[in-house]
Amino acid sequence: NMKVILKNYVSVSPQETDMHLTAGTIKLKAPTGSNTLVVKNLFLSCDPYMLFKMMKLESHYTQSYTPGSPITGYGVAKVLDSAHPDFEKDDLVWGITGWEEYSVITETNHLFKIQHTDVPLSYYAGILGMPGMTAYVGFYELCCPKKGENVFVSAASGAVGQLVGQFAKLEGCYVVGSAGSNEKVDLLKNKFGFDEAFNYKEEPDFSATLKRLFPQGIDIYFDNVGGKMLDAVLLNMRVHGRIALCGMISQYNLEQPEGLRNLTTIVSKQVRMQGYLVFDYYHLYPNYLHMILPKIRHNQVLYVEDIADGLENAAAALVGIFSGRNIGKQVVAVDCL
Ligand code: NDP
Repeated sequence: NMKVILKNYVSVSPQETDMHLTAGTIKLKAPTGSNTLVVKNLFLSCDPYMLFKMMKLESHYTQSYTPGSPITGYGVAKVLDSAHPDFEKDDLVWGITGWEEYSVITETNHLFKIQHTDVPLSYYAGILGMPGMTAYVGFYELCCPKKGENVFVSAASGAVGQLVGQFAKLEGCYVVGSAGSNEKVDLLKNKFGFDEAFNYKEEPDFSATLKRLFPQGIDIYFDNVGGKMLDAVLLNMRVHGRIALCGMISQYNLEQPEGLRNLTTIVSKQVRMQGYLVFDYYHLYPNYLHMILPKIRHNQVLYVEDIADGLENAAAALVGIFSGRNIGKQVVAVDCL
């Protein structure tokens, strides 16, 4: 059983050398009465929150990995054996699994049985899995979009951002996205239908760029990056604007977070700014499937994936999301069935 092991806790952005691939053995039989499953992993998802698990952090919403053990994360898998009443052999599932060929799953709280297989299975690591739910909850539940509103999305070509932009277009909004390369900007404008997009690495005066692209101001900001971009957005918000604080990837590996000077805007413009964790909203997953599946089938929502091939390329794929190497949702294909 090949597995990806964390060598030691990291303190800054992880490097490929912080992980290594090793062989082990695993029993492919689930002990009777144990409520566990044995699965074959098919796709693994590379997600920014995994950085926190690679660090030794006290009091965080997610528990750190154990150095010397395989790392864990969201994935898509096939059940080989089950001692759990809700799952049986050959079921396809998505949820938390190990970065290895085969895993024993003991925690089934956030494990979903896959019912629809007429779409790519890797989608359950992206648009039909945790990142999809993150976009859906943050945009619809927290931002309450209305037709004609002005929407800004950062890290807009990524797993979550590409969906938020497309949802906003479907709601009749004007949508602008920021991303870290011209190739990604091109994707936003010419594939996902954003009205405008810019490369934040080439336009360092974020506030001036936002003023140019939003002369009337921003109604909704879907924040994936935090830091200076959030500060610049605050200056450009409209009265009664809403901000979903989804993530702050620009701050995750800084020793000193970049201060926000424009926070008083929240008061003067009566802006609603709300953070959320997708795990608390999984009860809405059936609603999301009902909304998104027809849109995937009719090409009304597109999804770009960046698929690394094999566990031997998994560590590089994971560290790549912290430097923006991924174009679209970063997935690792372990076995495509
Ligand atoms: P992505 O697929 O967007 O991958 C990460 C991207 O972040 C990179 O491709 C890169 O794109 C961008 N990035 C990396 N470093 C920086 C930086 N210093 N400044 C600006 N951008 C940077 O990831 P996801 O879509 O999966 O996640 C997006 C955000 O959503 C993250 O902040 C994540 O933590 C958060 N999240 C929150 C959840 C919740 O429950 N609240 C659940 C899931 C995700 P580029 O080339 O454009 O810089």
